[in-house]
Amino acid sequence: MFLSRRGLSKLVGSAPASFTASALTKTLVANPPPLPPMKGVAFGTVFTPHMVIIDYADGKWGAPQIVPFANFSLPPQTSCFHYATECFEGMKAYADIADIEKVAKGEKLTKQHIRLFRPDKNVARLQDSMHTLCMPPFDATELVKVIEEFVRTERDYVPKEFGYSLYLRPTAIGTAETLSVVPSSSVRLFVIASPVGPYYPPPEGESGSAAIKPVKLLVEEKHKRAWPGGTGGSKLGANYAGPMLAQEEAHERGYDQVLWLGAKDEVQEVGSMNFFTLWKTKAGKTELITAPLDGTILPGVTRASILELARGWGEFEVSERSYFVQELVEALQEGRVIECFGCGTAAIVSPVNLLAYRGKEYAVPCPENSITRRFLHEILDIQYGKTPSPWSVEVIA
Ligand SMILES: *Cc1c(COP(=O)(O)O)cnc(C)c1O
Repeated sequence: MFLSRRGLSKLVGSAPASFTASALTKTLVANPPPLPPMKGVAFGTVFTPHMVIIDYADGKWGAPQIVPFANFSLPPQTSCFHYATECFEGMKAYADIADIEKVAKGEKLTKQHIRLFRPDKNVARLQDSMHTLCMPPFDATELVKVIEEFVRTERDYVPKEFGYSLYLRPTAIGTAETLSVVPSSSVRLFVIASPVGPYYPPPEGESGSAAIKPVKLLVEEKHKRAWPGGTGGSKLGANYAGPMLAQEEAHERGYDQVLWLGAKDEVQEVGSMNFFTLWKTKAGKTELITAPLDGTILPGVTRASILELARGWGEFEVSERSYFVQELVEALQEGRVIECFGCGTAAIVSPVNLLAYRGKEYAVPCPENSITRRFLHEILDIQYGKTPSPWSVEVIA
């Protein structure tokens, strides 16, 4: 589905047996505190009382554990501190809209209906990222089950408010205690959870669903995020560390995000979001275009969902193909760009209102009835269970 598998079994001998969700053990905190008020809480700063840990050592996966949220104690020579043996995922659990409405009316919930959005996709991508780092395989359905049980355990921390969610961060780190430059022979897979509000908090008085704020982009011509044959298609922490300086420079110059280009000035991604353009082609066709999954683009779950929704609408051409920043700038000059947006789990969609390229600024249209907003609402409605969809996986607790 993502990148080709590169014979891991050769590296580690025969593949180890997966951990299983049925072996899960739980150690719970005695008096977990209530969910704090979410207003004004910055993204990823508040965590639930528990976490998942699954350790791999001596060629074997151990049993999954739900344990109290706590610091790790690792020796300074641990692999992940030196050689970036780290990858992660970002996914969310959402309260069902019917439960949100009940809570708003002051009713008590006897059962909670919580939804995960396409968790199989996140777990498959984690497997792929771990494979890139020579970490051992596991059975995807077992990790999905463990995550579901974790969500059930932390059900009271899934905010019961539209636009809010419980952000889940599955992570794998190399824990081998050696400075030797080899694949880490031991791994810790863990999952932490953080109640979050809308990525771009709505203006006072507006509801969470209206929370979309346009961003200003700087086309980055010096630094690269990803290149052919590199690791840009995997969700590695290293892919985030590399771009930080370019991102800071863009901030200092007054831009929100960097638009990354490939070796031939192909349009790649924006910050850590996939990027879409809706435009009129020179031939006069309306086309929604995004870069292809050629290994330099992160295969976003939101990206895939937007492509599937747009193809389902059948209102315009939908293309995954390379296009160049010069084409985008030319289309902006000729008034052919209808809108541009970034997309990812955190913000869902981020419309773009300005593009800076070679010292010039180009206004990007942000129409009132945008497809950006339409994608946002269709996806939110699936995530909160307003629109039934096989993408929405119910976890009842
Ligand atoms: C995580 C990520 C995305 C978005 O992926 P989603 O699955 O939609 O959240 C896009 N680009 C990069 C570089 C990412 O790391």
